[in-house]
Amino acid sequence: MTDRYASFVQSAAGRALVKRLGLPDPPRLRRHQPGDPLLRGPALLGAATGGRLTEPIVKILTAAGVELRDTGTAGPQDRFGALVYDATGITDSTELRQLYDFFHPQARAVLPSGRVIVLGTPPRECATPREATAQRALEGLVRSIGKEFGRGTTAQLVYVSGDAADDPAHSAGTITSLESTIRFLLSGRSAYVSGQVIRVGGGAASVPADWDLPLDGQVVLVTGAARGIGAALAKVLARDGAKVVALDIPAAGDALAAVANDIGGTAVQLDLTAPDAPTRLAEHLASRHGRVDVVVHNAGITRDKTLGRMDADRWDQVIDVNLSSQERINDVLLERELIPAGGRIISVSSIAGIAGNRGQTNYATSKAGVIGLVDSLAPALRERGISVNAVAPGFIETRLTARIPLVVREAGRRMNSLAQGGLPVDVAETIGWLAWPASGAVSGNVVRVCGQSLLGA
Ligand code: NAD
Repeated sequence: MTDRYASFVQSAAGRALVKRLGLPDPPRLRRHQPGDPLLRGPALLGAATGGRLTEPIVKILTAAGVELRDTGTAGPQDRFGALVYDATGITDSTELRQLYDFFHPQARAVLPSGRVIVLGTPPRECATPREATAQRALEGLVRSIGKEFGRGTTAQLVYVSGDAADDPAHSAGTITSLESTIRFLLSGRSAYVSGQVIRVGGGAASVPADWDLPLDGQVVLVTGAARGIGAALAKVLARDGAKVVALDIPAAGDALAAVANDIGGTAVQLDLTAPDAPTRLAEHLASRHGRVDVVVHNAGITRDKTLGRMDADRWDQVIDVNLSSQERINDVLLERELIPAGGRIISVSSIAGIAGNRGQTNYATSKAGVIGLVDSLAPALRERGISVNAVAPGFIETRLTARIPLVVREAGRRMNSLAQGGLPVDVAETIGWLAWPASGAVSGNVVRVCGQSLLGA
């Protein structure tokens, strides 16, 4: 589905009209192409006094080929691809002024599709209530910058646990834990992710030999892969080096085969709600690959009706496909130890699961349940070295959203900081990052891919 309004505002006539009438102005977003540099311009780096992450971040950015500037050397005419600020040194609300001093002069210095990243300490790990208060305050700054800077700029807060550095005398642990997240957030892969709080902990992460093939050799299962977000996922994961096992219902067999052939993957026709689906899937993965490194639970359905008009079938089907089938499959794959240490479980939730939605009690219940699954399973699987995360898409341009009536659809598209719907590839790139072996320190997160939607914010 195309967003005709977004195309129109890129034309000369469209630009003039948008300016004159003050209409929404969706920018053209920078999206990742293999071989692209992480940023279109230098990164300006700042740090509060006593920040603990400055050294690791300099190393990460330098290794990624990012040109670095600091406030001492930057001139008033300079423009930046990113502003990166280490706020871990802030231990009291009176020290928040350092954020103003860094960001205020740069508010107009960020290039289109620029990036703002603030690094903090998780409030529950802070030594004093005052430090925890000040660290929590960072969220308000970051979310507001996401709404203010415009022109496709995104802003995120990354809370980096002390556990991310396994040896406190050595910053190498922090660098390895943090590197994949910094690379993802700076790159065009995170085009539609904004206003997020991401937590990086102490799980094991391994750096790839080639950052253009971050999933090299990984066996990845994608459910619901015949079309929409799942088809985009299969493509992105295969591009990044994965062997993709694409699964969908038998009725979607032709489309599924086309997706699998296109990427050199394999196709599995299976209805996830069939009683024997988990064992059949486990047997397929065991006999073909001996394991599955990454499980992406993407298959999902909607059966919308207001609660009073909803029959029990609509309720049951949605809960079963979107939530219970994920639990049954996880149980069998984990019990048979088919997901090895370093494995990943990634589920697709929705902002409807965060905000609720009229006419979607069944869907929102299932998608909130997916968040519960992440909350409960991530700590339980930490010992086994398996990470569990979810993405929560907002308005994504697919067949699912094409069915929404025009006026509601147009409102859904524009009610976010980027004034446009996301593309399936935006969800796929975010899941890709969570799947990388380099992202082992990211677990228990629910990352919204919603352009900082106003819903559930
Ligand atoms: P889609 O309808 O285009 O694709 C879903 C796929 O899942 C289909 O190919 C379908 O055949 C498959 N599927 C359904 N039931 C299945 C079953 N029982 N067994 C196996 N496969 C089954 O939807 P989409 O827009 O690509 O959505 C993908 C995921 O993203 C879903 O979980 C959806 O809830 C979620 N999501 C989408 C949006 C959006 O804006 N499109 C927003 C939030 C969340």
